[in-house]
Amino acid sequence: MESDARLIAAIDARRDALAALTSDLVRIPTLNPPGRNYREICDFLAAYLSGAGFSVELVRAEGALADSEKHPRWNLVARREGTRPGDCVHFNSHHDVVEVGHGWTKDPFGGEISEGKVWGRGACDMKGGLAASIIAAEAFLEIHPDFAGAVEISATADEESGGFGGVAYLAEKGWFDPARVQHVIIPEPLNKDRICLGHRGVWWAEIETHGRIAHGSMPFLGDCAVRHMGAVLAEMEATLFPLLGSKRTAMPVVPEGARQSTLNINAIHGGEPEQDPDYTGLPAPCVPDRCRITIDRRFLIEEDLAEVKGEVTALMEKVKAARPGFAYEIRDLFEVLPVMTEEDAPVVRTVGAAIARVLDRQADFVVSPGTYDQKHIDRIGRLKNCIAYGPGILDLAHQPDEWVGIDDMADSAKVMALTLAELLA
Ligand SMILES: [Zn+2]
Repeated sequence: MESDARLIAAIDARRDALAALTSDLVRIPTLNPPGRNYREICDFLAAYLSGAGFSVELVRAEGALADSEKHPRWNLVARREGTRPGDCVHFNSHHDVVEVGHGWTKDPFGGEISEGKVWGRGACDMKGGLAASIIAAEAFLEIHPDFAGAVEISATADEESGGFGGVAYLAEKGWFDPARVQHVIIPEPLNKDRICLGHRGVWWAEIETHGRIAHGSMPFLGDCAVRHMGAVLAEMEATLFPLLGSKRTAMPVVPEGARQSTLNINAIHGGEPEQDPDYTGLPAPCVPDRCRITIDRRFLIEEDLAEVKGEVTALMEKVKAARPGFAYEIRDLFEVLPVMTEEDAPVVRTVGAAIARVLDRQADFVVSPGTYDQKHIDRIGRLKNCIAYGPGILDLAHQPDEWVGIDDMADSAKVMALTLAELLA
């Protein structure tokens, strides 16, 4: 198609601009937690996108989880109307990044461009994807100024900490109502030839075993909560982990190892709290009366949440029956249901066809082991026609010396531009 070639040429002409925009975004350290520089990155994007003919709105998620005067949760939504009615295609990227960690050889917020890559925290996850969607929109607007519907680009807060001050807030306020947005693409780093249809479910909970405090020299006068927890963990090893390993899913989760139910024990604590590093004394001898673990259970579209919770309750009851005096509590912390967009949804078919034209290969369909903002668009926004598609190698996310390849960004920008042309031109 001749219009394909013109779009591809328009992206190629913007290759340096794409790298420069990514670098500019990396240089604004939007660390989360606690949520730094959210206003700065939204102001930067507002100026950039206004210049490209978008009308922009800054939305603060007032009253949302973690929103405060010190660290307000700012979001940006930019919209460019077409010349006639039609669908709205929305690109949603989170603008927050995770902590830097150790082991870097590059400046994490230097935005260095070298070896065909842009380096820095958030380059891959997901400022490269955000920049690719902006450049794709610019190229589309140049080649198809007379288009139907609308193009929207959002940059949202807090994805890395649950998205409550970002996409969840916007979805609650109607920004993802299917009456105003029809197609959503989230440019998370899932490789340029893969379409991510959704993610597994999540249940986080705290399990606490109860005992009775006593002098450590006479443990028989107390009841050790840590030993009770030991019995819980032993029962998990004997029955729960094998059960979870036997539950396989038809969801195309990558990596393969996540194509089953999983459970991680995120933390364990029992007895006296750990002292500050400057404490030079010894611990005191006490029988611990509380022991707590945090569990992170990831579940499948074939499972339901009540069944997932029921397995853990049944296990605790079994331990209780075998241990006189055993008492426990389970507290829910967080839950997300699995989501998976149908393979024949319009946005999936269109992006799939664009991948075939740009990269000359069939797109792979994948599902993410962990959740991302699609959950809010699906559950709160009720919009099902949503995928994640963007440049970058998922394994590099949250690592030291994070980078995104400029060729990969350009290729996925081409896929995004062809998608816009197919849906709106
Ligand atoms: Zn991300």
